Amino acid sequence: MGADKAKTIKSEIVIVGGGMAGLTAAIGLAQHGFEVVVVDMVPKGDLTAASYDGRASALAYASCQLLKAIGVWPYMEPYAQPILEIRVSDGPSLLHLHFDNETLGDGPLGHMVENRHTRIALFKRLEEFENIRFLAPEKVADINRSASGVSVTLESGVCVDADLLLGIDGRGSVVRRHADLPTSSIEYKQHGIVCSVEHEHSHCGIAHERFLPSGPFAILPLTGNRSSLVWTEKSHLVDTIMNLSDRAFESEVARRIGGFLGEVKVVGGRWAYPISLQYAHSYVSDRLALIGDAAHGIHPISGQGLNLGLKDVAALIEVLVVARNVGLDIGATSVLDNYAQWRTTDNAAVYAITDGFNRLFSNDIGPIKLARDLGMAAVNEVTPLKNFFMSHARGTVGELPKLLRGESLTS
Ligand SMILES: Cc1cc2nc3c(=O)[nH]c(=O)nc-3n(C[C@H](O)[C@H](O)[C@H](O)COP(=O)(O)OP(=O)(O)OC[C@H]3O[C@@H](n4cnc5c(N)ncnc54)[C@H](O)[C@@H]3O)c2cc1C
Repeated sequence: MGADKAKTIKSEIVIVGGGMAGLTAAIGLAQHGFEVVVVDMVPKGDLTAASYDGRASALAYASCQLLKAIGVWPYMEPYAQPILEIRVSDGPSLLHLHFDNETLGDGPLGHMVENRHTRIALFKRLEEFENIRFLAPEKVADINRSASGVSVTLESGVCVDADLLLGIDGRGSVVRRHADLPTSSIEYKQHGIVCSVEHEHSHCGIAHERFLPSGPFAILPLTGNRSSLVWTEKSHLVDTIMNLSDRAFESEVARRIGGFLGEVKVVGGRWAYPISLQYAHSYVSDRLALIGDAAHGIHPISGQGLNLGLKDVAALIEVLVVARNVGLDIGATSVLDNYAQWRTTDNAAVYAITDGFNRLFSNDIGPIKLARDLGMAAVNEVTPLKNFFMSHARGTVGELPKLLRGESLTS
């Protein structure tokens, strides 16, 4: 590891973006024998600093299977809080939805882990591979693709030659822009305000999602008597809220939580993330594939963004391993098309569901409110529908890549 000043580095795969999806991809690919270079513009020390990312992610059961299969999970497990139930309610309405892990009888619905601990765990595992080089801070200066390979020139002058380029560089992806892949986007004019709280009573492993007029308010269980909050708010109010005194902010937070956790205290900082839906119409081009938020950034309402990225990672690894085993070029368009076809439909269904949910719940119009409350109550009573939503929460819907099923790619 460490910045490599050699002029040209030869590798099989070059990844631009060492976020959670990028590092997971690097580890999974290296574990399956590929030579990988990862480039990120942010140094490792900053990526893992407490101030860098205040979020915690709900990792679906299937995502946890992937992290176990590639040896990252043991480093994260001490920080992982099992999600045993999810309770969804429409403000103070008594009509609600309740998902319980006992119903499917197959372990927790997922785990909550602070992103910082996930990033630290990923770096610990990354260091165990000699076939990964992590170059940071480094920015992409130029990309050249040809029939025989791809060349990524970095601003330091280092050039990485590879068979395949993966753009895992988030919503503003330079790789996507370089390939000129058309993208659609919707601005929700909402921000997700994020902070953590300590509280008097146990959360009992229950995640709460409340629909308030400005957007969803999620109370997500962390280890100990702690929870992570995602308070979705109209963008024009965000500066005012972020500038509140500690006392006023804590009192707004406590009012939204209600009394069920006892006394609450905000710990650490507060962060605000703009929310939009953005997706590329195609995930692949010659010798290039997009993964994670670079391909699709969605509303955090259902906690699925990273989970979708990890599904992309597992699918791409499987496609590339199969291709290599039969002697195909891993950068060939026919190989990358298999990845794109596998992931596009599944991801599109999730964009549509999360977009629809946000529109349905981020308003306070009487008839719509009544209809959605009755809808929630109905879903709560119909077991097959409820199981369908729970399988989505667990990430087990669709044709799952083997690594998400906890299976080895050699079997
Ligand atoms: C409030 C909120 C709550 C969320 N909660 C959940 C949740 O509970 N569950 C869930 O599954 N998802 C959740 N998400 C979504 C999730 O955070 C994202 O989907 C995920 O972080 C995307 O990961 P990524 O690695 O694809 O991209 P990113 O995290 O954006 O990483 C991209 C990386 O690329 C690097 N990079 C960018 N450009 C360049 C360049 N030019 N050169 C070099 N490097 C570059 C960046 O430095 C960064 O490290 C939430 C999102 C928000 C906003």
